[in-house]
Amino acid sequence: MRAKDEFGPEYVVEVFDAKTGMQGVMVIDNTARGPGKGGMRMQPDVTTEEVMGLARAMTWKNALADIPFGGAKSGIKFDPKSPHKEAAIRAFADKVKKFIPDLYIAGPDMNTTEKEMAQFADQVGNNMATTGKPASMGGLPHELGSTGYGVALCIKTAVESRGGKLDGMTVAIEGFGNVGTFAMKFLSEWGAKVVAASDSKGVIYDNNGLDHGELMRTKAEKKTVTAHGKGQVLPPAELFKLPVDILIPGARPNVITDANVDDVKAKIVAEAANIPMTYGVEKKLMQKGVLVLPDFLANAGGVISSYCETMGWDEKKMFEVVTEKITNNTKLVMERAKDGDTRAAALAIAKERVLEAMRK
Ligand code: NAD
Repeated sequence: MRAKDEFGPEYVVEVFDAKTGMQGVMVIDNTARGPGKGGMRMQPDVTTEEVMGLARAMTWKNALADIPFGGAKSGIKFDPKSPHKEAAIRAFADKVKKFIPDLYIAGPDMNTTEKEMAQFADQVGNNMATTGKPASMGGLPHELGSTGYGVALCIKTAVESRGGKLDGMTVAIEGFGNVGTFAMKFLSEWGAKVVAASDSKGVIYDNNGLDHGELMRTKAEKKTVTAHGKGQVLPPAELFKLPVDILIPGARPNVITDANVDDVKAKIVAEAANIPMTYGVEKKLMQKGVLVLPDFLANAGGVISSYCETMGWDEKKMFEVVTEKITNNTKLVMERAKDGDTRAAALAIAKERVLEAMRK
């Protein structure tokens, strides 16, 4: 098990419900800045150690996002396809109830959606128990696009902080899902030229630029971007090698590795997905002069939106808060990362904020 350090964890709570067979773990890593906030995932093989690592990652992510949340995470060891899924969620809610919402606030994660969040909040008997609830319960759903918007804004801010302009810069996006589609929408609106987008079937690449609305129609009607009809279709892995200015890994973890890092031609890599590469691989890119916008900076729009949900704010106010936080935090990281190591700079800022709260 991961050792305890000065930051946490404050609580590691393992629970078991004999009736459903549900086993779960809730890790509250650090609450110096506010209640521990982090997703609740359901996976048959989730481990306490994995949840501890994810809870720590949330401590840094929420601090860097500059929202008044600490870090936490929970995992329910249960088959997500079981007909007894709801009973397992409710059993877990009963077990961890006493920590909510002062020390823990949940959110959707692997195999949990707004439906499970509604069940969880209902069982706890407090709407504040979780974010990511249905709109009818005051939720601000991911479908509003806060994360993809934040990714696009982080890139724009970073480019402008170096005296550049998004206008005409070419972009390739891995994953045409929630995050990828919104990142494309806003980058296109702000003058960038998205030339490639991918999904599990492959890449659509058109050097003349892809139209966001047209590609959305293709995906909706034909289920894959590769059926677009215009441009070239390439295998998924080719996306990372394209001659573009900006590369956005936005689907899966560990897609840029020692094996393909030398093929990356982009000058900016913005991590929309979580952990699309290790720190070692990031450093290789940084040494080549590539600007890496780390995941916990670039994709923080989602957690900022979660904070807005707990405040009961509407969509308009949420986008204002995401704009302010992403712009400020990106500028700060760009100023601090004089040596090019943006992850180290971002982590240092997050740690300073947590330490300051702990001192108070
Ligand atoms: P999503 O399920 O909406 O979309 C994922 C997309 O990836 C789909 O278009 C899918 O076809 C595509 N994909 C799957 N396999 C692929 C492959 N081999 N090659 C290329 N594309 C492939 O997911 P999402 O919500 O957009 O999340 C994407 C990533 O962003 C994940 O890593 C997630 O953890 C991270 N993230 C999401 C949010 C959010 O608010 N949704 C917040 C922070 C981080």
